[in-house]
Amino acid sequence: MQNGGIYIKVGQGLAAVNHILPKEYIETLSALQIGPEKGVMHLATAAIVNALLDLWARIEDKSVWKLLVDMTPDELVSTMDFRYIYRDTMTEEYMKGKLKQNEPRKKELEETIRQTGYPAYTTQAGWLGYTDEKVEELCRKSVQDSFKGFKLKVGNLADDMRRCKIVEEVIGYETKLMLDANQVWDVDEAITWMEMLAKYSPFWIEEPTSPDDALGHAEIRKKLKTHDIGIASGEMCANRIMFKQFLKCNGMDFCQVDAARIGGVNELLVVYFMAEKAGVPVCPHTGGVGLSEMILHLQIWDYICLSQTDENRMIEYVDQQYEHFRYPNEASHGVYQVPIAPGYSTELKQESIQDFIYSTSNSCQRFQDLKMQKKMKKIKRLETTLTEKKEENQTEKKDETN
Ligand SMILES: [Mg+2]
Repeated sequence: MQNGGIYIKVGQGLAAVNHILPKEYIETLSALQIGPEKGVMHLATAAIVNALLDLWARIEDKSVWKLLVDMTPDELVSTMDFRYIYRDTMTEEYMKGKLKQNEPRKKELEETIRQTGYPAYTTQAGWLGYTDEKVEELCRKSVQDSFKGFKLKVGNLADDMRRCKIVEEVIGYETKLMLDANQVWDVDEAITWMEMLAKYSPFWIEEPTSPDDALGHAEIRKKLKTHDIGIASGEMCANRIMFKQFLKCNGMDFCQVDAARIGGVNELLVVYFMAEKAGVPVCPHTGGVGLSEMILHLQIWDYICLSQTDENRMIEYVDQQYEHFRYPNEASHGVYQVPIAPGYSTELKQESIQDFIYSTSNSCQRFQDLKMQKKMKKIKRLETTLTEKKEENQTEKKDETN
């Protein structure tokens, strides 16, 4: 990588990957001259760094979680990005010390997680737009599948009250109910609304207001503390500095980092360390294509090497797009199984690539055909309207003549 660009020398194998990942290269990649670490450039950085981790793990014939677990504290910390974090939040010495202190339990925890899997909660039953009957039916199915928690989307008070009641009756008072507002409220509105939903004892309210408003989240958290409702956020946090704000001002009880939102594994690890230091469990966001595939590796690493617990920690489960992955991380019996295939679990099936590749695939052709059909329909509608108008005008003229 030179002058803000990136290249890999063919034939260097592992050495090339190793030389690309250290933090000084990532710093250059996220780039001093192309603006702050957010938006499309940062997403692209994440895609490249995550692909390199996948490549590195495959060369080593290990899953990404195992690659990270087997690194020495010095090796792991050497890959991380500390800019704007160092000293005022944590130091390399703190991280290395933590990892060294946790080393004696690593082997035992690795064996445990291989047997138990990682706890999952489902968002599948509670999408907006589902009928009450569908919510109830999906909840019953998820209870049979042993999920540890259920999440409902909220945003219309009358509907929210009714749907919370339905879910609570099906899942019981012992199982966790989480609510997700997807940023719809202002701060005061969020507090008032959640005080009305408090009787359903939600475990957390997710993204109650703007995802950038760390202080707003902190205010909501303070007010809802008396109802024992936690604040979850982070799926839209663009970088580690945003997480630093949220954690420093007590703006979140659950850290919902997203595997593809911030600049790759190197930056994600820093967020895990900051959350651990603040005593905030990481319950990552998933739901997008490949997100649960990737983040499961980091949660397993966290369980073995950093927090060394799964208490109050769960990974979101959404039953979408698994069919395109060669080694999907599917949840069964309420847990994700530990991945064993080499890499980051993101390898796509050849037939899916063929089916969706831009410009030549059948899917692309279907999309173009659909666009053309829509255009033709619009033209037809316009033609009909014009003809009708013309006929009306002619009739009016006739009437006037008569
Ligand atoms: Mg959400």
